[in-house]
Amino acid sequence: MSRPTTATIHHAALRHNLQHIRKAAAGANVMAVVKADAYGHGLERVAGVLRDADAFGVAALGDLERLRAIGLGNRVLILSGFDEPADLPKLRDLAGDTAIHHEFQLEILEAAAPQWNGAQALDVWLKVDSGMHRLGFVPDKVAGAYARLQRLQQQGLVGEIRAINHFASSDEFENPKTLQQLQAFDAATHGMSIERTTANSAAIFGFPQTHRNWVRAGGALYGQTVVEGKCGADFGLRPAMTLHTRLIAVNSIQQGETVGYSERFRCPENMLVGVAAVGYADGYPRIVEEGTPVLVNGQRTQIIGRVSMDLTTIDLRNIQGAEVGASVTLWGGDLPVEEVARHAGTIGYDLTCSITRRVLFTDA
Ligand code: PLP
Repeated sequence: MSRPTTATIHHAALRHNLQHIRKAAAGANVMAVVKADAYGHGLERVAGVLRDADAFGVAALGDLERLRAIGLGNRVLILSGFDEPADLPKLRDLAGDTAIHHEFQLEILEAAAPQWNGAQALDVWLKVDSGMHRLGFVPDKVAGAYARLQRLQQQGLVGEIRAINHFASSDEFENPKTLQQLQAFDAATHGMSIERTTANSAAIFGFPQTHRNWVRAGGALYGQTVVEGKCGADFGLRPAMTLHTRLIAVNSIQQGETVGYSERFRCPENMLVGVAAVGYADGYPRIVEEGTPVLVNGQRTQIIGRVSMDLTTIDLRNIQGAEVGASVTLWGGDLPVEEVARHAGTIGYDLTCSITRRVLFTDA
């Protein structure tokens, strides 16, 4: 028998979320960020559902290849840019946009320009490090990088030039950092007649003044937020994934007996304990605390003891109809992934990205 552990991807939720983002960022183009296999939801599936996105944002050339292989002609930006000279003809042939975040990339472009010979020009997004200090040109290097891209444009290697930054703390709506970064970005790109993008999901909802020409939505597409204490529904979003399994055993355990590895849970009374066919080898985090919520037949209860590789034990006190085969929802629907993530000391993105290959994906 195959394992009953499934991740169901809700197409209507994905479509709703894209529409909702469009309304929240009216007037801006929406780049759907589908890197990391669409935050674990499946790149081809998600991009196919969201084919009317104005562009896709990905992490690597391989993602661009996969999008073109399913016939999608949308603009695709490789957010981390290219690495080596051999990437340039691939970008050109696949009509991919690249971020330019470092001096070494300008040097590669300049070395390639004399041999470009009228081939299709590459559209580039000049990455400004406005304070995140991860990728990008610091403000006083931006004008120089832009001038070099303009020269490459005259030589025919570079096509359109746009500007991009990324926020460090846009999930903290009271934190002045985001508007400081915005100001630094605007000052660094002042006077350039090019399109700009700054906002990620949290900024789309929390900082409307950041929207500019394009917004880049990742988590929000999947119905998630990283804003502390909130879940996607608080911003009008719908969860795009349900992780689901079934009980494969229901046991009566005596008061004082322990359950699972390291005897971590001791039964305070005689009680029913369910064994669900999900474990850390499916991507359900081993690190979750005892008391992490789950739904059994739609009723809220909690996990007990240690999560093991294939199995997780569940408190069935007060659960109606808790029999072998009962439905267990690990997250999704009425159980926000953000809430489960908090019990694992992480964010929902981390959980959906961590689903492993043995989980069966289904579409709804
Ligand atoms: N833009 C860039 C450059 C990113 O790295 C990411 C994700 O990390 C995003 C946009 C999307 O962020 P979010 O998922 O919070 O919308």
